[in-house]
Amino acid sequence: MMNRIILKNCNIYTMSSERPNAKVLCIENGVISYVGEQIPSKFSGKIIDLGGRTVLPGFIDSHMHLSSYALMQVTTDLSGTKSIEELKYRLKAAKNQDVPWIYGRGWDHEEFSDKRLPSRKDLDEVSVDMPILIVRKCGHVGIVNSLGIRKIIDLGLARNSSNQAELSQGVLYEETLYRVIKHVHSQLLSPSTLRSAIENIVKKGITSIHWMSADTFSIKKLVEAFKGNLPIRIFIYLSSEHLSKFRDIKASYENGKIKIIGIKLFMDGSFGARTAALRSGYDDEPHNMGILNMNAAELISSILRCIKLGAKIAIHIIGDRALEIMLDALERLDRSIIKHIRIEHLSLLPDDLFTKIKRYLPLKVSIQPRFVTSDFWIRDRLGKRAKYTYRFNSMKKIGFIMGIGSDAPVEEIDPWIHIISAINGPYVNPLEAIDIKTAIELYTIGSSNLINSIGLGTLRKGYYADLIVLDKDPFRCTLEELRDIKVLMTMVDGVILFDRINVKK
Ligand SMILES: [Zn+2]
Repeated sequence: MMNRIILKNCNIYTMSSERPNAKVLCIENGVISYVGEQIPSKFSGKIIDLGGRTVLPGFIDSHMHLSSYALMQVTTDLSGTKSIEELKYRLKAAKNQDVPWIYGRGWDHEEFSDKRLPSRKDLDEVSVDMPILIVRKCGHVGIVNSLGIRKIIDLGLARNSSNQAELSQGVLYEETLYRVIKHVHSQLLSPSTLRSAIENIVKKGITSIHWMSADTFSIKKLVEAFKGNLPIRIFIYLSSEHLSKFRDIKASYENGKIKIIGIKLFMDGSFGARTAALRSGYDDEPHNMGILNMNAAELISSILRCIKLGAKIAIHIIGDRALEIMLDALERLDRSIIKHIRIEHLSLLPDDLFTKIKRYLPLKVSIQPRFVTSDFWIRDRLGKRAKYTYRFNSMKKIGFIMGIGSDAPVEEIDPWIHIISAINGPYVNPLEAIDIKTAIELYTIGSSNLINSIGLGTLRKGYYADLIVLDKDPFRCTLEELRDIKVLMTMVDGVILFDRINVKK
């Protein structure tokens, strides 16, 4: 039976230049069949009166990490704790959660007044009947409670551990720690954790995500959690260790809502950790030029391996040296290959490299405007070079194909936070700000163009009915009003997934 829905009395921004605005939208079996001013006489179906509210295409988050985002919901944030007492207090609050491990991250004992490393005994004061693991902010030291130690030994995770004395105190390093973290993640990434992560994403008005650096364990868990009823669309770039199995993974997990697109490669690290590869040292650490993961020849060979297996390529590039090496690689690659490549971040673009990169346009780039706000220390790190960071406006003008991604859980998932940063900065060079129309375009049709997805990103006939209803018109909002704009309804394939208006009543 044909499922027909008519949205009337709407303030629709289609984000399509053909017909930018409309009042009525008709949906047949999940696909938009009409966009216009009045309900055509031949249409019938369930009518939803939106009372003049604003409708936009659903957001497409072009860069996020779904499994880490899901784990965040069951992880106690221990960053900024000033004492072991405070750390214990925060962990106690997590005891009511129905989880197999209490898991906390982000503490740094250098910030405690006595600078003492927490021990098994401290954590036993939090709980003796739930295992606990806490990981220091560097990710290289972990502490477990007594029950945690017993579990680790029973599961054989402490085999060959060279630090038996430390293990008896609950202190874990390197290999042992990584095995334990992997185990705890696998325990915590339950169907309910994944379902609540997706629910949050839907509530924020996101109807598609590009999941970067995904692993097969998490994809399998996701498929199990939703049993074929995944509410949103998920486009996946696998982490590079899965490259040789790319075709098998694609065959096993692709379905109507999940598409395995390609492989994520890393050229360098981040400005925050001073691991982004620079052409000359960091201003606040002159001997350090960051870390480059591949030279041009290695990058070319990785790209060619991906292409051979039918995988597209997303390359993480932050520093200018990483970019320069990538441009060397592009020079030696065929145009037909370059079109399968997209760049993640492209945070630093000095003028000489800007001139060079123009040759390869249109190039695809996923940008993270929130970094503009978060990297408030960027002048200390980069000195004069800071003015070449986050050149969104210049990139847009010159013809890059751009989409916006949140990089959640590194940053928050809420699209408006990123849109506000995109338009308001504070940028080192304020001329690089983009306007709200561009920002929303990049978060919808722009992100869709990064992977050439069909039928997504704008509201027009023949496209999927993936859309959101807002409580305010973002194009008529002040910055203050934008900060508390709310999504009232989210629809994917014409199905209402989230509804604060109560249209079903
Ligand atoms: Zn990322």
